[in-house]
Amino acid sequence: QKPVPSDIVISRSCVPKPIDRLAREVGLLSDEVELYGKTKAKVQLHIIKRLQKQPDGKYVVVTGITPTPLGEGKSTTTIGLVQALGAHMKLNVFACVRQPSQGPTFGIKGGAAGGGYSQVIPMEEFNLHLTGDIHAITAANNLVAAAIDARIFHESTQSDKALYNRLVPLSGEQRKFSPIQINRLKKLGIEKTDPSALTDEEITRFARLDIDPSSITWQRVLDTNDRFLRKITIGQSPTEKGYTREAQFDITVASEIMAVLALTSSLEDMRQRLAKMVVATSCSGEPITTEDLGVSGALTVLMKDAIKPNLMQTLEGTPVFVHAGPFANIAHGNSSILADKIALRLVGPEGFVVTEAGFGADIGMEKFFNIKCRYSGLRPHVVVLVATVRALKMHGGGPTNLELLEKGCSNMRKQIENAQHFGVPVVVAVNAFKTDTEAELDLICDMAKAAGAFDAVRCFHWAEGGAGAVALGQAVQRACEAPSNFKFLYDLDLPIADKIRIIAQKIYGADDIQLLPDAQHKVELYTKQGFGSLPICMAKTHLSLSHEADKKGVPRGFILPIRDIRASVGAGFLYPLVGTMPTIPGLPTRPCFYDIDLDPETDQVNGLF
Ligand code: ADP
Repeated sequence: QKPVPSDIVISRSCVPKPIDRLAREVGLLSDEVELYGKTKAKVQLHIIKRLQKQPDGKYVVVTGITPTPLGEGKSTTTIGLVQALGAHMKLNVFACVRQPSQGPTFGIKGGAAGGGYSQVIPMEEFNLHLTGDIHAITAANNLVAAAIDARIFHESTQSDKALYNRLVPLSGEQRKFSPIQINRLKKLGIEKTDPSALTDEEITRFARLDIDPSSITWQRVLDTNDRFLRKITIGQSPTEKGYTREAQFDITVASEIMAVLALTSSLEDMRQRLAKMVVATSCSGEPITTEDLGVSGALTVLMKDAIKPNLMQTLEGTPVFVHAGPFANIAHGNSSILADKIALRLVGPEGFVVTEAGFGADIGMEKFFNIKCRYSGLRPHVVVLVATVRALKMHGGGPTNLELLEKGCSNMRKQIENAQHFGVPVVVAVNAFKTDTEAELDLICDMAKAAGAFDAVRCFHWAEGGAGAVALGQAVQRACEAPSNFKFLYDLDLPIADKIRIIAQKIYGADDIQLLPDAQHKVELYTKQGFGSLPICMAKTHLSLSHEADKKGVPRGFILPIRDIRASVGAGFLYPLVGTMPTIPGLPTRPCFYDIDLDPETDQVNGLF
């Protein structure tokens, strides 16, 4: 076999077709496409209206076993599978994937465009700025953060009247409320539109949000693995007159605005979600929203282009939507509902849309079903579960023999069972590496079928492109015709702790959960504030089914500790923190950026993978 060149060498050796040509091929009209150079385009949302009557294609979700830190090839398999279905089996296809965060791209893991001969191209465009969506999220998120602290500062340094006069300034002879301020008045039950008609008591209620600084849950974000921002003190300049407080940064892709982008269904829906986001609690216990801060309209403006899915292509010229990029461990880990919906209409009833859910089936897939499918109303036909020899050997305890591999297959068996909880057929894709033996690949396929998978096939798309995944494509096609009986894992109406317990016991295999004091307090607070019926988005390590990354295989006999819970009310979920999960990663001693440079002669990016 010929050696496979590096990802960037392969990516660069392929000349992408002009993106406007690809857009025409997939049935987009010219007024539905906004070109961003020659290889990327955004798709306008009014296409949804045009395709209203078109039936959906088949919907396939790619997930995996519990991975090693290197990843087991879900993105690579997503791309390999659409190349097989599209370029080789001549079916209409779309891949829907997340935009990678620059944290891992410059940190440990590298990019996420797939690998080998199964990639989204050009991979440097994909892995770096793309069309700026993540930057827009960072800008929007940090505008909210600035609004919170500035508001606390202004409220604490001014009288009610002075505050009111500044919030509702004179325009000409008169004061006038902005539309957002009228929304706030309605929320307060003040049915007045004339600013001079408010009583003193109403002026105080209107002007003072009275944010309890210790209750602020909104963090600043950055899309960089900057561990020194995990805990900071803000407001240290004398100009802030001593209003310092401890705060933290999260990574942009774990932010609520990223989740809103991924879960929204229209511009109007996004506007409402961006207005509903709860940032803190007032001293009297009321939730404070972005609408209260007056910033929701500006957020919508900052996000108006980010909401349009980005069109790119695979190495074999099949279409890809790259849209939204929430991390899977500390966020909900799935690309956008809008991209999936548009793609399903574009491929038509005989076509296939393959979407990827991050990390193992206990993480991204559980959230795919319980959060994404709940909001989208879409029901997948097939789950593709990616497994590798190397990761299953790790679960078995060592790299050497078939016995350890067989032992490690327990993790695959559990993840198959996790997918079966949702009643959808499972096809196991064994992503073959060149060091794998025939006996190893056979063993995994046999074990997968014995565990109840609809089918299990070896795939070679990393080394061979779509041609190496035709068997997978055929298995997926057959599985789409198999009976399925979709169900959610839990009812939304259950108490918060019960929902968390169901995920912990059924998916992770925990004996029980333990709510630590902060989490217990939040359960009470969110239930009282009326957020108790939101779905759950667990923030847990992806490296183990349990909360401890070094427990491999199928850990048993553990109690899952819930340290705290946050609410993403606009995105629409509660977000329990399991154990100590950092919400912004750090850089290793030798980060990926050591290898990345620009060749000034050719203007080419080197060193990305
Ligand atoms: P995931 O999406 O599961 O995190 P990726 O698809 O990003 O995993 O793959 C992780 C890394 O492994 C990438 O660098 C990719 O090129 C590489 N890879 C994937 N499949 C293979 C394979 N069969 N042989 C060699 N390398 C592979």
